[in-house]
Formats: sequence, C-alpha cells, structure tokens
Amino acid sequence: MRSVLRKASRPDLILRKDQSESDALFLSIGEGALVTDSEGRISRINQVALDILGFKARELIGKWYPSMVIAEDNHGQVLSNLERPITQVFLTGQTITAKIYYRRKDGSKVPVDLTVSPVLRNGKPIGAIEVFRDITKELALQQAKDDFISIASHQLRTPATAVKQYVGMFLEGYAGRLSASQRKLLKRAYESNERQLMIIEDLLNIARLDAGNMKLNVATTDLVLILEDVISEQSAKAAGRRQELSLNSSSDEVAVNIDADRMRMVFENLIDNAIKYTPENKKIQVNIRRFINSAEVNIVDEGVGIAPVDIDKLFRKFSRVPNPLSIESGGSGLGLYWAERIIKLHNGRIKINSKPGKGSTFSVRLPVASKIITDKISR
Ligand code: ADP
Repeated sequence: MRSVLRKASRPDLILRKDQSESDALFLSIGEGALVTDSEGRISRINQVALDILGFKARELIGKWYPSMVIAEDNHGQVLSNLERPITQVFLTGQTITAKIYYRRKDGSKVPVDLTVSPVLRNGKPIGAIEVFRDITKELALQQAKDDFISIASHQLRTPATAVKQYVGMFLEGYAGRLSASQRKLLKRAYESNERQLMIIEDLLNIARLDAGNMKLNVATTDLVLILEDVISEQSAKAAGRRQELSLNSSSDEVAVNIDADRMRMVFENLIDNAIKYTPENKKIQVNIRRFINSAEVNIVDEGVGIAPVDIDKLFRKFSRVPNPLSIESGGSGLGLYWAERIIKLHNGRIKINSKPGKGSTFSVRLPVASKIITDKISR
C-alpha cells in the first residue's frame, strides 16, 4: 500500500495519469472536437470530428487547420483566415460560437454549429479547442417548417382576401339594405377577417425574412417623422383604451439610414404592444434621443410588465407569454421576432427593461446617418 502511494506520487506518473485521463475525456466528447496549437496546427482530433469532416487523423495532425478544412458562410463564400472563428479566438482571446459550413475531404459541404475557446496556460493562450456538431438535420427541419409557413400563408391569403371583399360588399349595401343587427354581425366578421389577414401578412413577411429573400431598401430617413406617422396612426386605438400616447424628441430631425417601411413595421409592433399590454387610462411615451453616433427610441409603457425569466423567450418565433391582457388582445407571437431581426439587419439592437405590474421600456438603438437627404423623406 505504502509503495503504491509512493509510486503514484511520482510527478512523471501523475503527469502520465493526467494525460491519459484528459485523452479519455477528449475522445469521449460526443461532438466533433479538435485542438490546435498557438499557430493553428491541429494537435488532437476525435473520431466524431474525423467522421464529420471525412479525414483520417494522420491526414490532419500537425497540419494548419484553415488550409486543410475550408470554411464557408451560408452564401457559399469561403471565409478568409481572418474571418475564421479560430483566428478570431486567437485575436480576441474570447470564446466564439458560429454556424458555418465546412468542406469535407471529398469536397461536399456540411453545416456545423461550433464553439471555439482559447486554451490557456498561466493565463496565456497556448492554442484553441473547437467543438462542433453536424446540423444538417436541424437545418432541413427548419427549412421544412419555413416552407410550410410560406406555402400555408400564400394559400390562406387568397380565400381570406375574397371574404374581405364579399363582406365589404354586404356592408356597402350591394346586396340590399341591412338591418342594424345584420350590420353589427357583419362588422364583426369584417374585423375578424382583417385580423386574420394581418396574421397572414405577418407570416408571409417572416417567411420572406427567414428565406433570406428580404432586400432592405435603405435610404436616409428622419426617425422623428416615421414615429410621428406611426403614433398618429395608432392614436385612435390608444384613445379607444383612454390611454395617453405621446412623442418627445431631443432633436427636431434624427437622420438614420433605414428601410423605412420595414422599420415602420417594427415601431408599429412595439407601440401596438405597448397599447395592448397596458391597461386603460394609463400613459405610453415614445422618446427619441440623439447621441453622437446613434439614436435611441424608447417606448415606455405603464403596462402589465414582463417577468425576468420570460424576457429571453419574447424574441423567439411564435412566442407569446401569457399575461392578464394577452388573451383579450390576441396576437401571433411574431412581432418581437420580426423587430429584433429587422433591427439587427440595420446594425442596431433592442433591449427590454421591465417590471411586472409596473410597466416596460423597449429601447431600440440605431446608428445615425451623417446627413439627411431631404428628397428621400415623404412629409
Ligand atoms: P404578440 O404581441 O403577437 O403576442 P410579440 O412578439 O409582439 O407577439 O410579443 C410577444 C410577447 O411579449 C407577448 O405575448 C407579450 O406577452 C410580451 N410583450 C410584448 N410587448 C409587451 C409589453 N409592452 N408589455 C408587456 N408584455 C409585452
């Protein structure tokens, strides 16, 4: 017993034991894993990674990773050495996650979701470890879902539009005079059909966005004008709930380079939510502030608020969080998904600050344009 202990405490044996333990740990990672030295040469790779990439270990060990395994973005553009996640890790010292395509040895492509982290010794980077998995099946499933949404919404739009036309004709008296109760019921049918068409339109917009078919039509635009317009459009709805809806801006004009129609939909969604999720007789304020390089729009409500655990869920597709007003107000759970995606396409960001029972503030920050081109603005 004593001799075993003595043997085990010899530094070389401890090292070898540590080494074999870490080898076993590394090899048993269920996802593709590889380690590089500080110059990006592959020093270790597990079988899952070899299976995904279609190489043999001896073909990769000791080789410079970016030259052996080509990486592409989702448009088929080869990533430069500088753009490779592993290079970014060496440059920033930070862990990086990304979804990219790798080219296998036989030239075929495989989509992967990866995380690369620096390997540190005494706080200094001595290499990087990359863990990745093949996401072919996930992407196919996502594509099937997107296709379904796109086809279903296209198919639904035509009959729903026909219903709108015929009910509209009834209401305009094309089929004779209507009694008060007939008119009341038909008006309800008309409003429900309008909501249905709005949801279908949302679905179509999302389908276009997800399919990458959305081209932004960017022009220098005055944010104050856009928000004035949206607020005047929504003021009837707020008045119907006896809410005070107001706009304040730190500058008369705030020029931003945006796709005005798409950004307008973002603000329509955010202000519509503020109205929907705020009880009657309360206030909603829209504040615009101009900073040196950016502009911020804050939509501040005195509504039901959102619990901290729910905040991250809100930006997911079809995600609705039940609250005291959500059943009555209805919705598709697509508004915030749309808002975040469109804002990111404009190099902006959206943040939420909320207190349950007290209210929420949705802040949208966008880069400002250096000067305003007045002929692009429709007053
Ligand atoms: P929808 O309003 O159609 O449900 P959204 O994506 O616009 O979809 O919003 C998602 C969820 O976020 C809503 O179901 C609601 O629970 C919550 N939410 C959004 N805006 C507010 C707000 N101003 N106050 C409280 N909750 C909100």
